[in-house]
Amino acid sequence: MQLSEKALAISPSLTLKITAMAKEMKARGLDVVGFGAGEPDFDTPQHIKDAAVEAIRIGMTKYTPASGTLELKKAVCANLKRNHGLSYEPNQIVISNGAKHSLFNTFQAIVNPGDEVLVIAPYWLTYPELVKMAGGVPVYVEAKESNNFEPLAADIEAAVTERTKAIIVNNPSNPCGCIYSQKTLGDIAEIAQKHDFFIVSDEIYGELVYDGNKHLSIANLSDDAYARTILVNGLSKTYAMTGWRIGYTASTPEIAKIMGSYQSHATSNPCSVAQFAGVEALMGPQDEIRKMREEFNERRKLMVKLVNAIDGLSCVTPMGAFYVMMNISKLKGRRLEGKEIKGSVDFAEKLLEKKLTAVIPGAAFGADDFVRLSYAVSRENIEKGIKRIAEFVAMLD
Ligand code: PMP
Repeated sequence: MQLSEKALAISPSLTLKITAMAKEMKARGLDVVGFGAGEPDFDTPQHIKDAAVEAIRIGMTKYTPASGTLELKKAVCANLKRNHGLSYEPNQIVISNGAKHSLFNTFQAIVNPGDEVLVIAPYWLTYPELVKMAGGVPVYVEAKESNNFEPLAADIEAAVTERTKAIIVNNPSNPCGCIYSQKTLGDIAEIAQKHDFFIVSDEIYGELVYDGNKHLSIANLSDDAYARTILVNGLSKTYAMTGWRIGYTASTPEIAKIMGSYQSHATSNPCSVAQFAGVEALMGPQDEIRKMREEFNERRKLMVKLVNAIDGLSCVTPMGAFYVMMNISKLKGRRLEGKEIKGSVDFAEKLLEKKLTAVIPGAAFGADDFVRLSYAVSRENIEKGIKRIAEFVAMLD
């Protein structure tokens, strides 16, 4: 029988192969250092866990409104106001099962078959697949390492067509770790206004910025940018709550209504207990967040220093999130035991096999000259893993 063409068009995750290999090796008792993690290694703060226990105790265990509880929507609004000076009303907020689900809803709400969505490369590998799931076509705009992985206005403009429906702005970026300057955000907002398309702003790493930088939401730039932005965020990264599955969108009441209806038939509400705890996360004390950020910052500096000390490898200093894009282009074409390292997949596979260190090949993000290293791991493991990478490079002919 014929299966769904739309479903068949979805690519399997390239990262899974390496992650599965690393897991299997760990299970065999091997001492694998994993730089693949896309989640904080910290535990969820205790006061948030306590709130979840309280939710269960008082019976917050039933269906909630499909698009989320009013309390959590209000907490999201308060948070957007406090952190960004952005004004939203609860009817503009939709709470979903993680930011990934929020993004899924977003594309379902705005994309018609054949519509194009601009994706800035290197990109988070889920974006193109989410666009395709909605019947859209991802169109790539390359952002160069030499420009700190920020896209150039001329390159964005050149990719715009009659069918352009939206641009995805992931700021701070996974996998690049860059944060966009006000100039770049302004250029994007201007092009979106000129050609009248949506801005999908994924700000999931917005609280994880370093060196005294402050996260700037593109929705903050002008009334027009605010009106055409669907802002996506969630609790996973900021509050070390990846497993709780709470994400949200802030958009126009019209779009929020469409997404709410869509969600009401697809999944109903996100977990009632997690929503209750989410209010505590957003409205409770924020000191743990600061502590996590400080620790990430130390790890970031350590990793950047160690990577740049290895001959043949380099990285620009990331300003946000918890990833380092390690440039391996100088090693392409070198050989290991007679076999050529052709690109990031060969590099990642051989590094894991020979030195028990897992990294994510940049090919997964549309950037074969790089591998991604997560610093959501202990400083001790950063030292150990980067030392192994240096030993691996020394093995190449
Ligand atoms: N956006 C980006 C850029 C991400 O890296 C992730 C998590 N890897 C998400 C969204 C999704 O986060 P979640 O669904 O856990 O909220």
